[in-house]
Amino acid sequence: MKTVLVINAGSSSLKYQLIDIETEAVLAKGLCERIGIDGKLTYQPTGGEKFQKEAPMPTHQQAIELVLAVLTDAKIGVIKDMADVAAVGHRVLHGGPNFTASALIDDKCIAAIEEVIPLGPLHNPANLMGIHACRAAMPDTPQVAVFDTAWGMSMAQKTFQYALPYEVYTEHFVRRYGFHGTSHMFVTGEAIKRLGREGDPDVKIITCHLGNGSSVSCSKGGKCVDTSMGLTPLEGLPMGTRCGSIDPAIVPFLMDKMHLSIKEMDTLMNKKSGMLGISGVSSDFRDLWAASKAGNDRATLALEMFAQGVKRYIGSYFAELNGADCIVFTAGVGENDWAMREMIMQDMDALGVDFDFEKNRTAPRGEECVLSKPESKIRVMVLPTNEELAIARDTAAIAL
Ligand code: AMP
Repeated sequence: MKTVLVINAGSSSLKYQLIDIETEAVLAKGLCERIGIDGKLTYQPTGGEKFQKEAPMPTHQQAIELVLAVLTDAKIGVIKDMADVAAVGHRVLHGGPNFTASALIDDKCIAAIEEVIPLGPLHNPANLMGIHACRAAMPDTPQVAVFDTAWGMSMAQKTFQYALPYEVYTEHFVRRYGFHGTSHMFVTGEAIKRLGREGDPDVKIITCHLGNGSSVSCSKGGKCVDTSMGLTPLEGLPMGTRCGSIDPAIVPFLMDKMHLSIKEMDTLMNKKSGMLGISGVSSDFRDLWAASKAGNDRATLALEMFAQGVKRYIGSYFAELNGADCIVFTAGVGENDWAMREMIMQDMDALGVDFDFEKNRTAPRGEECVLSKPESKIRVMVLPTNEELAIARDTAAIAL
């Protein structure tokens, strides 16, 4: 059996998934938590019983060694030995200007990821810890880095450039990169397959990744043309706790009025804004709908602002692409929240969308589904995202 181990390393956690690359089946998945504190391993073999154990994990390397031990365990493991792991795929947040696609990890690649730590100060160091841990535990197994920013690297300069002094771009690499790239890439590829338009350079797709973090992206011929997140994931839509795009002059204005430090202003925009900040209730859409139904006007306002934001991006991307063949909803809200999809798709007929509101209401949660009427010029679909599978596919394509 040939498998790919997919790793998503955080500063004190490590998510993993083992995928059979021939059948694309998930053999097992799980999580190491509280790395460097005390340590807890969760392991879920597909079709088997969930297994949890407290185990000391002072570093990411011990965590990965525990994962390999449980995957190859004689009783509960899903592979015979380490040789069954043909390659490891790592999720890496920021590739900066260096990476336009996934890359085989070697010393040069690691140095390039280190170079852009200032652009992803929370995630890149943690992703690197996962890479170093796997290289130490599996020195002979090829490793691949899959960048969340790579999708956005096909944007034209007029699209990714901010209208700041040009040197800000050349000296500090400040440009629009975009995030959720692996998800946008995956659902775009799946949508193109469903449309039967593989290899067509003119196929135009708008993808709405709506979850706790949200972004909208558009593509032509499967390549990103524009995306709503920017240098950081703060730009674009209002999100669970992020404000999204605002007048940049608000930043110095509030820092002055509220006597905020840079860090406090950053926290206000990233952690206290968005759905949570507007509603005062929650960042979770389920809580917001419940509060809205109970008469909370601010919860209703937050939901309306979110829908309005998505509608704006769909409209502007429609103009940018000069049309669209398909609009895709994905991620937690996009896949599960029919009421939000309904709000977004209201009054879109001028674009050529004939949305089936009835079908949308009864669509099974989290499952692939076509939500436009057969006569609609633009197909609207729910396509569940699968970033781990996208990472496994890229890893196999590069390393094997
Ligand atoms: P994600 O970041 O993609 O994991 O999405 C998480 C978000 O999806 C949660 O914060 C919820 O707001 C939302 N969500 C998940 N399930 C539902 C549901 N059944 N109805 C409405 N929102 C949901």
